[in-house]
Amino acid sequence: MVSIRFIIDMDEDIRTAMYFTRSRMIAGGVNFTGNIIKELPVLRSIIGKSASARKNAIKKALPEHYRSIIDGLKSSKKRFEKVSSSFDSIKLERYMQSEVGVCRAYVSVFDCNPVYPDKKKFQIYYKASNEKALKTVVHEIIHILYNRHRLASINRLPKGKKWMLSEIVDELVMEKFGLSQGGYPEHRKHFNAFKKLMKESADFKSFLNQAAESATGL
Ligand SMILES: [Zn+2]
Repeated sequence: MVSIRFIIDMDEDIRTAMYFTRSRMIAGGVNFTGNIIKELPVLRSIIGKSASARKNAIKKALPEHYRSIIDGLKSSKKRFEKVSSSFDSIKLERYMQSEVGVCRAYVSVFDCNPVYPDKKKFQIYYKASNEKALKTVVHEIIHILYNRHRLASINRLPKGKKWMLSEIVDELVMEKFGLSQGGYPEHRKHFNAFKKLMKESADFKSFLNQAAESATGL
């Protein structure tokens, strides 16, 4: 069973802004820091600065921004609750041989979508369309389900490959459920090889083990 609690939490957004302004962060062909600046251009000047300088600037700019969009945040929260209830998570859990239970979704002013699988929480951008919202919710739930397997074969991978594998598997599962997002641009060249493995595996868990083995050679 998957039960999602949608929450608005400015402190969480402050942490997100702190993290993605440490330096200009681009991964898999996606500009995460750019997505922070897009929402709050005043933060452009703090990229790469000290933690205290960044915290001061963020704590000054973010509450003001929140005040100006609070109605939008609240209506997005309601909209996302409705959208996410349309997805049949049972089938996803059955396929991925894992269960999620209760998780929290932070309706965020930033379009970065960090996910914290251990804490079963993720962010969702308040301006996301209904279609994007559904896809984001499912994408992040897949990350959480994936993480619950805690396979030694995956844990052995270096950090970069671990992340890449989780995103590739995520996109392939999305595709299987008719919710493809296209995946990260830099990962697309690997899709066919992993799709083949997925098709040939007896179940999701054995696919994961084989995928982890393949990822070591990438
Ligand atoms: Zn992801």
